[in-house]
Amino acid sequence: SRRKPALDEKLSSPLQVFGQAKKQINGIFVNIQDYVANASERMTDMNIECPDVINEKELKSILDYRSKVKGICEVLTRDHMKVAFFGRTSNGKSTVVNAMLGDKVLPSGIGHTTNCFLQVEGSQTGEAYLVTEGSKEKQNVESVSHLAHALNYEKQLNEKELVHVYWPKDKCGLLRDDVALVDSPGVDVTPHLDDWIDAHCIDADVFVLVANAESTLMITEKNFFHKVSSKLSKPNIFILNNRWDASANEPEFLDQFNSQEQVRKQHMERATDFLVKELKVCTAEEAASRVFFISAKEVLQARVQERKGLAPNSGALAEGFITRYKEFEEFEHKFEECISKSAIKTKFLNHSQQGKHLIDEICKIMETIFKRSLEQTKIKGAQKKEYQEKLNFTNQQLENLTNMLKIKIRNVTDDVEDKVSKALNDEIRRLYVLV
Ligand code: GDP
Repeated sequence: SRRKPALDEKLSSPLQVFGQAKKQINGIFVNIQDYVANASERMTDMNIECPDVINEKELKSILDYRSKVKGICEVLTRDHMKVAFFGRTSNGKSTVVNAMLGDKVLPSGIGHTTNCFLQVEGSQTGEAYLVTEGSKEKQNVESVSHLAHALNYEKQLNEKELVHVYWPKDKCGLLRDDVALVDSPGVDVTPHLDDWIDAHCIDADVFVLVANAESTLMITEKNFFHKVSSKLSKPNIFILNNRWDASANEPEFLDQFNSQEQVRKQHMERATDFLVKELKVCTAEEAASRVFFISAKEVLQARVQERKGLAPNSGALAEGFITRYKEFEEFEHKFEECISKSAIKTKFLNHSQQGKHLIDEICKIMETIFKRSLEQTKIKGAQKKEYQEKLNFTNQQLENLTNMLKIKIRNVTDDVEDKVSKALNDEIRRLYVLV
């Protein structure tokens, strides 16, 4: 039955568009899986009864399609939006991740250099635990110091390795909405940039460069993103000039001729040039909503205070805190729009096209078999009555099945196209208006 797409519901965050599209496309593929399973079972039976109507090649194709659909279903349930954070050591990557999560999840600061890749994602069980690469063992994590200890214990971890940190979904909206956040070792500490990108970034929907507002973009940081954009076409990159509070706190870092505004302008120009002219990943207008000046430390502090029921600005704060906090929220909003849009496009559009292709192929095979069975009926018409009855039965079965597949599956295909393009076009455009 054709339900009205649930995407019409009012959404409070762009991230929810992804969640809804995922739910719908999952439902559609579960239907396709049922139809293909049904078709392959009947064809297996008929191949035994009437081997001259269905040949082995056709049977094998249907069974192959069945396992392909199963594979897509499995990938779909695991699909999430992925954001990867990069930058030099101590620029504040872990602090940015924590600020976005609204809590101290990842260890940060002196002595807690991230020495491997850490992927934080929602835990299905509501418990916090970590799983190291190649292991199935769930190591319970009770607190941030516990996690720091566990990671230290795993010091022999190769910098290329990925540790999954599963964190309770009810503690953070981003995790609830299926975002996975990947923290990385500093780009300054590795000669293995290529391996990193291939292993952990090729499927990232958004990249966040955490730069230090107290210095200019470094060659190592730029090189990393040159490599990323040579492997991915137009990656979505945000640049966060972090530690922007330090310029308010320590005016001596600005020389006497530079006001904070001038420093901002200079950083903005360089970052825009980098994105627009060097990497060619966006236009100058787009770059304006890709570069932000923030203080992750302040945002994290404020959100931890709020969690405790205290006023967000109750700690000792530098001048301009409110403006920086708002700029961080603005970044989060642009980030949510960008990641949701990108993930729907890269993940679901591809699946829906694959689904459509599979269904077309299956229909072609069914039609061929149906025609052949009609010919066989004519040729063998003069033969034994018993055989005739068997063929009639087969024809009837095939006709039913072909009709069922044609009608139902075409409906389903239309649905996939309909919904994915809706999620891509109308809904996202409408979100700009809603939010
Ligand atoms: P990472 O190595 O890039 O993950 O950096 P961390 O997140 O561990 O941060 C390194 C240090 O910088 C920590 O002591 C943080 O508290 C501090 N830090 C991070 N963000 C800010 C910020 O916005 N302002 C200031 N003043 N310090 C920050």
